[in-house]
Amino acid sequence: MEDFTREGTLPAQELMAWALDRYQDRFSIMTSFQAEGMILIDMAVRIRPNVRIQTIDTGRMPEETYQVMDAVRERYRVAIEILYPDHRELERMTVRHGINLFYREPVFRRLCCHVRKVRPLDRALQQLDAWATGLRAGQSEERAGVEKLDQSGGRVKLAPLADWTAAQVEEYFITHDLIRHPLAAKGYRSIGCAPCTRAIQPGEPERAGRWWWEEGMSKECGLHVTPEGTVKRALDVLLEDIISN
Ligand code: SF4
Repeated sequence: MEDFTREGTLPAQELMAWALDRYQDRFSIMTSFQAEGMILIDMAVRIRPNVRIQTIDTGRMPEETYQVMDAVRERYRVAIEILYPDHRELERMTVRHGINLFYREPVFRRLCCHVRKVRPLDRALQQLDAWATGLRAGQSEERAGVEKLDQSGGRVKLAPLADWTAAQVEEYFITHDLIRHPLAAKGYRSIGCAPCTRAIQPGEPERAGRWWWEEGMSKECGLHVTPEGTVKRALDVLLEDIISN
């Protein structure tokens, strides 16, 4: 593993410039077109107009996100690579568990996220040496420890805005007149799939509108004993059933 201690302290623009120069087409911005992703795109296009931009279309996105994608294509004249779930996995999951399985209990929500998001992302990452996301430490307690440069996943993962505040994000938006997601004006601060995202109230954490019905429920998957007597996470059992047929 290379020592990128210096790079991990660079300001956002310099870190992006370094990654674009070093990794070229083996680098992409992975975005869902929320505020932070829009900043990364804007920064990157100024440095390398043909930067790779990738997004996951889970099949449950709000229409407004597709509108933003088109607006980005037109404004920056960039190609957007859209990653899709494996249709066979999707079919098995929905046949076995229903189309809105995520409302039943957390383990089914996690299964849906794996099939629709995590697995397409994993497949895309196989083709990359480095990638960037718009994660910020201030977005939630879970993200408080996010690093600007992380190699723990086996490739370089950048979060150039890791140390930015919400005020800095807004300032960049105003200065550069960026495209705003239409749902932001309706109180959505973190925007994912349509059935799993709602607007938040003033004072709520930024990600309070995601999977809000899980509030107060255990986030643990629990353990499951298979017919062979093997103890596994319930999620692994459900996932194996979807991907091994
Ligand atoms: S956010 Fe909701 S619809 Fe989207 S992949 Fe996760 S559980 Fe499924």
